[in-house]
Amino acid sequence: MAEFGLYGLAVMGQNFALNVAEKGFSISVCNRSPSKVDTCVERAEKELGENASNLKGYKDPAEFIKSLAKPRKVMFLVKAGAPVDACIDLFLEHLEEGDVLIDGGNEWFENSVRRGERCSEKGIMYLAMGVSGGEEGARNGPSLMPGGPREAYDLIKPIIEKVAAQTEAGPCTTYIGGPGSGNYVKMVHNGIEYSDMEGIGEAYTILKHVGGLDNEELAKVFSEWNKAELDSFLIEITAKILAKRDTDVYTDGGEKLEGNESRYVLDMVLDRTGSKGTGRMTVQSAAEHGVAAGGMSAALDARYIASDKDARGIMAPMLDGPTQMPELDKEQLIQDVRNALYCTKICSYAQGLNLIREASRQRDWNVDLGECSRIWLGGCIIRAKFLHRIKEAYDRDPDLANLLIDSEFKEEIATKQKSWRRVVSLCAAVGLPAPSMMACLSYYDQYRRETLPGAALVQAQRDFFGSHTFERKDKPRGEMYHCRWTDKHF
Ligand code: NDP
Repeated sequence: MAEFGLYGLAVMGQNFALNVAEKGFSISVCNRSPSKVDTCVERAEKELGENASNLKGYKDPAEFIKSLAKPRKVMFLVKAGAPVDACIDLFLEHLEEGDVLIDGGNEWFENSVRRGERCSEKGIMYLAMGVSGGEEGARNGPSLMPGGPREAYDLIKPIIEKVAAQTEAGPCTTYIGGPGSGNYVKMVHNGIEYSDMEGIGEAYTILKHVGGLDNEELAKVFSEWNKAELDSFLIEITAKILAKRDTDVYTDGGEKLEGNESRYVLDMVLDRTGSKGTGRMTVQSAAEHGVAAGGMSAALDARYIASDKDARGIMAPMLDGPTQMPELDKEQLIQDVRNALYCTKICSYAQGLNLIREASRQRDWNVDLGECSRIWLGGCIIRAKFLHRIKEAYDRDPDLANLLIDSEFKEEIATKQKSWRRVVSLCAAVGLPAPSMMACLSYYDQYRRETLPGAALVQAQRDFFGSHTFERKDKPRGEMYHCRWTDKHF
């Protein structure tokens, strides 16, 4: 009898299944279209050596379920949304009380809460587990974020702790919290990923357009940055992307394009960015929770404007603005951009973690933010060395109100902020967009000011046109006042 079952053998499912088998666990696999079962078994034979026999393929869902040891642990990695409900419909009739269903997809957390309730009526435990790291992570060690009944987590813990990415700080998985929490943490991870990527894109743009650095110089700069505080997967791949010549490019159908060693592939990539929805969901949820997430929402807007290439083509010649780039000390500019990127990154993580904290508070998930940071140290797209330091910040103070006021991060921003301000001022002066660096600097400056006169004015305006009332500085908080601003009321 197999210790684990996996249904859904597209990119993620196949790789996750091979990973489980490679780590020495017996696994049964199944998929709606039978051909993927054959492909997965063939891959196991090719890639797993003596562990290939740990993986067995099934084309009939009932046979698949029968092959599993009780209590059964069945994970599905299928398209999020209706397909997950279809899978639950398919499996519920074959499962028994005490079995565990695990959804590894990028699902909206409230759907998982609803599904958990439905499954629990039949005594089936439902876990929704965020899986990060894409295809490579699934195959060799992802970051895994499970949420749902603790008892279900305890049943799969021995397996997922081995399957997850391994770091000096332990396997990149932990029990996140109650129903929906795993999806939520994975969603915010993706929101942070959006802002990390946008910040790096802005740094590249500034160094290219203002600094005049060519691709080789840029690749060296990013490689250098990857040796210290910015050390991360995204900086590492950026250095590789910048240095890659225009070869090894294939059509979607697998046909190779004629290569050209004299140019870089990045210079041939159209500046139209796609997105799949997790960034939007994070920003929507931040708004619903009343948590400021300017870095992530600036990154999301940047993707929308980037995807609107045709409108930019029409509007660009019509909109006036500076065109001349100043002559600057190149080394100073590189250092400034590095510092600006780092400060922006700290703000984005602060926003993401505060969002998780607020969602957790509202739903009693009890998410440990230090543990969240630890399990992102490996196997995921936002893996970064500085997550160690974020973990330490929450170890120092588990109730830390904001990463910005942790003693170490506060000190770092204090020393680097002159650079950050120079970069943002430079971008404004020369007309280069740097939405996430600018939004994060505003976030920092808003929290730096105890008094925000503009906020008082906005509240007064709200009272003027909507009688929304206001509190007074000279009266206790919570006492509301209304002004008859004019003789004429409307
Ligand atoms: P896809 O999201 O492309 O989904 C394809 C799989 O879903 C196939 O196995 C397909 O079966 C199955 N499927 C679709 N509809 C149904 C249905 N009605 N009933 C049963 N099965 C159905 O696969 P991925 O591997 O890319 O992703 C799986 C999950 O993991 C998704 O939620 C995705 O968001 C998430 N994820 C993906 C990452 C990635 O890098 N791709 C990274 C992290 C998470 P069939 O073969 O029969 O069509």
